[in-house]
Amino acid sequence: MGKNEKASFDVVVIGAGVFGAWTAWHLRKRGRRVLLLEMYGPAHARASSGGESRIIRMSYGADEIYTRWSQHSLNQWKQLFAATNEKLFHETGVLWLGAERSEYLEQSRANLQLCGVKHEVLEKRELESKYTQINFEGVSRGLFEPQSGVLLARRAVNCTVESALRIGVLTRIAQAVAPQGRGRLDSLELADGDRISAGQFVFACGPWLGKVFPELLGPRIFPTRQEVFFFGTPPGDVRFASPCLPTWFFQRDEVYGMPDIESRGLKLACDIHGERIDPDTQSRIVSRENAEWASQYVANRFPAMKGAPIVETRVCQYENTSSGDFLIDRHPNFSNVWLVGGGSGHGFKHGPALGEHVAGLVLGEQATKQRFSLDAKLTQQKRAVH
Ligand SMILES: Cc1cc2nc3c(=O)[nH]c(=O)nc-3n(C[C@H](O)[C@H](O)[C@H](O)COP(=O)(O)OP(=O)(O)OC[C@H]3O[C@@H](n4cnc5c(N)ncnc54)[C@H](O)[C@@H]3O)c2cc1C
Repeated sequence: MGKNEKASFDVVVIGAGVFGAWTAWHLRKRGRRVLLLEMYGPAHARASSGGESRIIRMSYGADEIYTRWSQHSLNQWKQLFAATNEKLFHETGVLWLGAERSEYLEQSRANLQLCGVKHEVLEKRELESKYTQINFEGVSRGLFEPQSGVLLARRAVNCTVESALRIGVLTRIAQAVAPQGRGRLDSLELADGDRISAGQFVFACGPWLGKVFPELLGPRIFPTRQEVFFFGTPPGDVRFASPCLPTWFFQRDEVYGMPDIESRGLKLACDIHGERIDPDTQSRIVSRENAEWASQYVANRFPAMKGAPIVETRVCQYENTSSGDFLIDRHPNFSNVWLVGGGSGHGFKHGPALGEHVAGLVLGEQATKQRFSLDAKLTQQKRAVH
């Protein structure tokens, strides 16, 4: 949609990351006139959804809601990719690796059982004989989800947006300005001075939420720097690609990675939160210190990869809430403004289920869930969701 075109919308969704894209898609499927507004472009290089790949797994400890949303989302992702003839989900399997008496693994296993998710518990000696390319030091057992895997993230968002466009969502590149005052918002102001009228407004601004609403969300959304490394695999060696190697997570180390997908290399990243950053301006070049750490880690856990070159890197950000639970709630000052974000390093996979939930809220068919409410978002971090 161009600057001078005037149209009226039922809903304007601000932000074309995974959350905004699926929200727009679901609202349009429900027959609403939707504008998807984005300041840089869908899943751009600075967006949290802009990475090459994201894990989709069902294990969430005792958090049944996330297991169910993940299951529901995987179905929707698969339907989208089947309809668009895209191969953006790789069923690599996901392997959680825990130390002895890992309560999290036990709770996950119980939940997978409850939700009917296919899984397998592997004792250390089974792990060692199945995956001879991995050093399992400090691990006593694994929980394997054979039907989980990897979403090719930025392309999956583009695929969602294109699908949304085909069913009638309009898009526009522009920066939204935060509304002032209180009551009911009739129109949204843009940074270029234009205004857009609509019945409802959904701010799905990811790590920018705290910049858009500095007083309300500045202290409640913690954007942290996260560095990602891809290591070149040895020539002619398939042991670090799927199906030989699944997606993996060493729980005690808080380090995860993926097999070589589309020949981009073995992916590795640390899940510990980095320093607080500004998503517009932070440097996207990895630090020498972290590159050295990552090389040492690979050499230790995958001995045949010792000395492997770093072939690609990414610097992204998590947009954490205090607990790691999503933020999905009405703005306290406006009856028709919604706040959606707080993916907290695990949100990508949930895009379809989250978008469906937000559409239900906007249409007045669902109520806010307490754990996703603004009230539950504190100004001190105490991570509870992994
Ligand atoms: C390194 C890394 C690894 C991760 N791994 C996983 C994983 O394995 N599995 C998983 O499920 N999740 C993972 N995540 C988390 C997941 O990627 C995020 O939670 C998710 O992408 C957040 O999506 P979003 O739509 O909320 O935000 P974003 O993708 O950042 O989208 C927000 C959009 O809003 C736009 N915007 C902001 N302000 C304005 C404005 N004023 N006007 C117009 N547009 C605006 C921005 O330009 C941006 O495009 C990971 C994240 C990172 C960084």
